[in-house]
Amino acid sequence: MQTNKSKTASSKLLKSINQQRVLRLIFTEGPITRVELAEKTGLTQQTITNIVNRLLQDDVLQELNPVASNGGRKPVPLMVKSENLYAIGVEIAVRYVRGTLMDFRRRPVKEIVVDVPVYNNDEHPVLYIRQVVDELLGHVTHRNQLKGIGCSIQGLVDSKRGVVIYSPGLRWRQFPLQERLEAAYGLPVYLENDANLLALVENLNGRLADSPNNLTIKLDYGIGGAIVANGQLLAGMRHVAGEFGHYKAFDGEDARQCHCGAKGCLTTFASASGLKRNGGYTPEELKQALEADEPEAVRLFGKVEAAVGRAIGNVITILNPNHVLLTGKMIDVLGERLIPALNRRIMETVPESCREVELVYLPRTPDESSSAVGLVMNHFFDVPLDKFSI
Ligand SMILES: [Zn+2]
Repeated sequence: MQTNKSKTASSKLLKSINQQRVLRLIFTEGPITRVELAEKTGLTQQTITNIVNRLLQDDVLQELNPVASNGGRKPVPLMVKSENLYAIGVEIAVRYVRGTLMDFRRRPVKEIVVDVPVYNNDEHPVLYIRQVVDELLGHVTHRNQLKGIGCSIQGLVDSKRGVVIYSPGLRWRQFPLQERLEAAYGLPVYLENDANLLALVENLNGRLADSPNNLTIKLDYGIGGAIVANGQLLAGMRHVAGEFGHYKAFDGEDARQCHCGAKGCLTTFASASGLKRNGGYTPEELKQALEADEPEAVRLFGKVEAAVGRAIGNVITILNPNHVLLTGKMIDVLGERLIPALNRRIMETVPESCREVELVYLPRTPDESSSAVGLVMNHFFDVPLDKFSI
C-alpha cells in the first residue's frame, strides 16, 4: 500500500507529466484548441482547462483569435509563445568558447566567441564559459523567459549525470560541469558531447532523418564520432562508443603516442592537431601545399586519406550502416579532395553487401552553440517518462 507521502509524490509527478504532454502537443501541433487537446490526450476537459490556465499564467502560451464554429462558444486555438522563450547554447571547444542566445523560434539574439590560447587548469574553461554566459545574460530582458543552458563539449560526456568524464583539451576529468553551472545561474543545464549532439540534430531533422543506422564522424581539431543503430544513439558502457579518433590506424614508425595512453590512434595524424604535429600544417596550409604539389604534403595527405578510408571501411563492414556523415574542419577545408578519395577507397574495401552505404557530408561544420540551444528546447518540451517508473 502506498503511504500518503508517496501518493502525493506520484500524483504530483502525474500532474507534471500530463502538463508536459499538453505543452509538447501545443508546441508540435499548435495552433490547437482545448477540445482537440482533450481528444488527443484522453484527459478530461477540466484537466486540460487547469493545465492551460497554468501555462497561460506562466506566459508560455498565447490564445489566438477564435475560429468560426457552428453555434455555441467558438474554440480558441492555442500556441506556444516561442518568441518569448529563450535558451543559451554554449560550444566549449579546445581553441574557443562560443555562446548563442536564441529564442525558441531559433532566431539568434546575440552571439559571442571568445578565443582561448590554452586552458591552464580545470577551472580555466569555467571562467571562459562564465564570461560568455554573463555577457549573453545582459541581452535577456526577462530572466524568467530564459529556460536553460545547453553545452556542446569536445570530450567524453555523461549527459545523464551532467559530468564531463574526460577531455584532455579542456583539462577535465570527471568534472561536474552541470552542477557547477546550475549553482552559478539557477537554470537547468544540459551537456552533450559535440559529435553526439551533431548526430542527434542531423538524425532528428537533418541529413540523417531517414537513416535508421548511421555513423557521424567529425574530423576536427581532434576526431569525434557517434553511432546510431536502429534509431538509437549508442553510448556504450562508459560513453566511449563512437570514439573514432582512437581507432588504431598506424603501426611501425608511424605509431605515435596518443594522449589517450595508446599508440597509433587515427587522431595522431588525421585531425587538425595531427597535421600540426606531423608536417606543421594547418588544414588551410595543407590545402595550399597540395595545390602546389609539394611532395611532403602529398605524402601526408595520402597517409591520412588511406588511414581514414580504411578505418571507415572497417567500421562499415562491422555495422553495415545506411549512411556515414562526415564533417569537421578537415572536411570544411580539404573535403573537395578528401571526400572523393575516401569514397573510392571505401567502395574498394567494403564487401559487396555493404556497398549501398552512402557517404554524405555537410558543406560546413554546423554552429554547435545553436545545436546546444536545441538541447534546452528538447528538455523543455520533453515528457519525463523515464521518471515514471520510480
Ligand atoms: Zn588515442
